[in-house]
Amino acid sequence: MIHNGEPVGTGTNISDAQIQSQISVLNEDFKRLNADATNTPAQFQSVAGTMDVEFVLALQDPEGLATTGIVRVQGTKPSWQQADDYQLKSLSYWRSDRYLNIWVCNLTDPKGIIGYAQFPVSPLPGLEESSNDALTDGIVLHYDVTGSVDDGPFDLDPKFNKGRTATHEVGHFLGLRHIWGDGNNCLGTDYVDDTPPQPGPTNNCPSHPQVTCGGNKMFQNYLDYTDDRCMNLFTIKQVERMDVVINNSPRRASLLTSPGSVPPTVVANDLGIRSILNPTTSACVGIVTPQIQVRNYGSNSITGFTLRVSVNGNSQNANFTQTLNPLDAAIISLPPLTLAPGASLLEFEVLSVNGGPDNKATNNYQSLAVLTTATVSPPLFETFSGSLPANWQIQNPDGLTTWQIVAANNGLSGNTAMRLNFYDYENEGAVDMLILPPVNLAASAQALLQFDVAYAPYPGQPNDRLQVSVSTVCSETGSLIIYNKAAPALQTAPQTSSNFSPTGAAQWRTESINLGAYLGQPQVQLRFKATNGFGNNLFLDNIRIVTGSFLDVALEQINRPTRVSCESNVSPELLIRNQGSETINSVRAAIQINQGAVVNQTISSLNLGTGQSMTLALTPLSLPPGSNTISVTVDQPNGLMDDVPQNNSVTRPAIVDGRGEPIPLRQNFESASTWRVAT
Ligand SMILES: [Zn+2]
Repeated sequence: MIHNGEPVGTGTNISDAQIQSQISVLNEDFKRLNADATNTPAQFQSVAGTMDVEFVLALQDPEGLATTGIVRVQGTKPSWQQADDYQLKSLSYWRSDRYLNIWVCNLTDPKGIIGYAQFPVSPLPGLEESSNDALTDGIVLHYDVTGSVDDGPFDLDPKFNKGRTATHEVGHFLGLRHIWGDGNNCLGTDYVDDTPPQPGPTNNCPSHPQVTCGGNKMFQNYLDYTDDRCMNLFTIKQVERMDVVINNSPRRASLLTSPGSVPPTVVANDLGIRSILNPTTSACVGIVTPQIQVRNYGSNSITGFTLRVSVNGNSQNANFTQTLNPLDAAIISLPPLTLAPGASLLEFEVLSVNGGPDNKATNNYQSLAVLTTATVSPPLFETFSGSLPANWQIQNPDGLTTWQIVAANNGLSGNTAMRLNFYDYENEGAVDMLILPPVNLAASAQALLQFDVAYAPYPGQPNDRLQVSVSTVCSETGSLIIYNKAAPALQTAPQTSSNFSPTGAAQWRTESINLGAYLGQPQVQLRFKATNGFGNNLFLDNIRIVTGSFLDVALEQINRPTRVSCESNVSPELLIRNQGSETINSVRAAIQINQGAVVNQTISSLNLGTGQSMTLALTPLSLPPGSNTISVTVDQPNGLMDDVPQNNSVTRPAIVDGRGEPIPLRQNFESASTWRVAT
């Protein structure tokens, strides 16, 4: 239950009874024990299917503790859309190989969606686009379509008041497609041959028969869009398809043997491994001190225990003397171990408790696959020609669209770049990570990250995002975001509803990020994280980390002319800062008033050290009276190219108002004013 803070049983925070009603509906509908099964038309009675399945609210939680199976969490926003999928589900999640997560919330999707499901991963036709992301697996329901009016006076949508939205969505969760096959003109298929073809969905509650596609529609099927009171069957072939999924698919077959459906038992001596805290799935090469959290799940107090830790089968045991009362938890550091480059399997096990055996084996063991990458020395330069180097990684949790090397015009013939095809990527909110090998900056005096980016937004889809994070322990956990742009900041080309690909150098931008904060660190790992907003395509190219000298003068602000002044003749004054690695002795300043001629001047003898700021006085100029726009660019440090051009320019208004008014001054805003507004 993702609710809005109401008391239990009111508003979005629906009652336990309403939730239990929904479970009852699922059991009745799937087992064809629904009271309205008799409403199935005679011609469809012979194909009506019964599934031998039982839905129960969980009796033990992922830790093995007793539960009602209902978790109530106040949401971080008052209403939710399908595009919020990852944010919604992260608020409450139980491991989806053992639990069918049903998120009930105030789902007010602009497309009118009142529920949705994650399809199963399966070789069955029609399931090719299923996400493999365990963290989003399950179904989502609008709170006022959850439960049945037959079970209590619940506040339900009059059209969807018999709990059939969940029946429909669990049908999807077990591999069923819509009865009309999501096509039109009777040509779509649901890959099930005892459901008749339909030209599209059926809405409302028509009377039988509805003749179409050369026969009668089966609008009573749960996989149509009819009102709840009109639905009453799955077919035999639909049940066969769901049987294949529930017996074979990941995070479906394992539900059948989940401990979640069995009430927990408490034993005397029971220390369990609650979680592995360190390392995470990604780590640096070298020595790591593993940390785990253990918890006393038994009825006895624990005074001592023995743990085993192993890496790729090489194990060592460690004894601990520590008092843990029932349900107490503790973080335990284990003996350090060494991670070699490549994949390692870390295993943790409880060997004994209070000098004897642990009485419950099921929570005594956890393992973790850790990937480490050998450190490389700078400079690093990746042009994405050919295939991705073996020491770069792509993380693609949903198994769908991800980073891919494709042709990309940047003015050089045959150029290729890394692309994320947001244009065709419907799984909004999905994250795809491009991970660099760790770079050794221990001996570097300066370091600069640069990359080229090309991106055109899709109109009205503002959520495509690119972030860069940096870690000194080779883990996403605890990493720091040093670059974060979505449209329009990310944009380098005009927005378009066509499939974007850059047409030349002008549609690329070079981004530069100073890595000065990480100098001296032996393992600096960067991650390029793309978040899908189902917008338009994002391209990356020429990712480089340079540790040689670089020049970067930044124009911090225009001190003079001020935003409003009564003088036409001003002596411009700028605040600049040396963000590069070399002392800057000269720069070029270019001033442009009202997009007129550019006036350049070179200022010398600056002696501006690394990290230092100074004011720069320029030769006087004359501003016309009224509202002006002044643009200033400071570049060409030491007469050379600036390596970080993003911070060289400032454009802002400069108003000259030389008129005087007689005193006493009065302004009552009764008539057109001679005053000006500066923003
Ligand atoms: Zn559907």
